[in-house]
Amino acid sequence: MEQQLRLAPHSVLMLDYDGTLAPFHVNRFEATPYPGVEERLVTLSTIPQVRLVLVSGRSARELRDLLRPGIRGEIWGSHGRERLRSDGTYELFALSPMQQAALEQMGLEMSALGFSDALEVKPTSLAIHWRGFEPAMQARIRSVVQSIFVNINEPGGLHLLPFDGGVELRSTDRAKGTAVAEILSRGPDDAPVAYLGDDLTDEDAFVALGNQGYSILVRGEVRASSARFWLRPPEELLGFLDGWIVNSQIAHAAATTGASR
Ligand SMILES: [Mg+2]
Repeated sequence: MEQQLRLAPHSVLMLDYDGTLAPFHVNRFEATPYPGVEERLVTLSTIPQVRLVLVSGRSARELRDLLRPGIRGEIWGSHGRERLRSDGTYELFALSPMQQAALEQMGLEMSALGFSDALEVKPTSLAIHWRGFEPAMQARIRSVVQSIFVNINEPGGLHLLPFDGGVELRSTDRAKGTAVAEILSRGPDDAPVAYLGDDLTDEDAFVALGNQGYSILVRGEVRASSARFWLRPPEELLGFLDGWIVNSQIAHAAATTGASR
């Protein structure tokens, strides 16, 4: 990886946020990155060779507002349904009216049953969180969600999909893997690329990367995964980011020297 980065005019570094850069927090607005991560993302933002991309299940604007100023990168939010460029340009891959109605029905019924605290309403999906609840309540939320879902007449192709700490009602015609494929399609083909993620929802992103780059599972404990590598946060994560920084800076210095000759 070092040699490849030092010689590359461009690289693509794709990062999931929750569970990867930032440990989980019951209040998601307080999920801040591991110490040292933000400084490194700021540095990466200043290296012209590096295309920094955050790929998250959160809504893109919510994630942007959590990031320290100085972290400049493209954000793909809501599992590939939102794209927010660093210049503020925004693109949404909207749901059909039927899908939107199914989301609303789930939200309304969950709220009516007193579970509004568990809901995370996003532009194109609804996440139901049970992290932080007692096990009995987690089981209750899980079963209520299931029973509401099976009673939705026309879910419009939405699915209830698990993630670490809950389930999400969302469409599968776009996912993090879709975002990765689109990011990579803008080439160049030989650019060093990496994708770092922790969750089940990152698996299709690992698959989308194939053998082209570094698909990296970031977790305290290893699990079955399509990722080719595994890093334990935070130390190994910080070490990885440092390697990307140092070698990209060498590439940058070489390019600058070359240009001034
Ligand atoms: Mg995650």
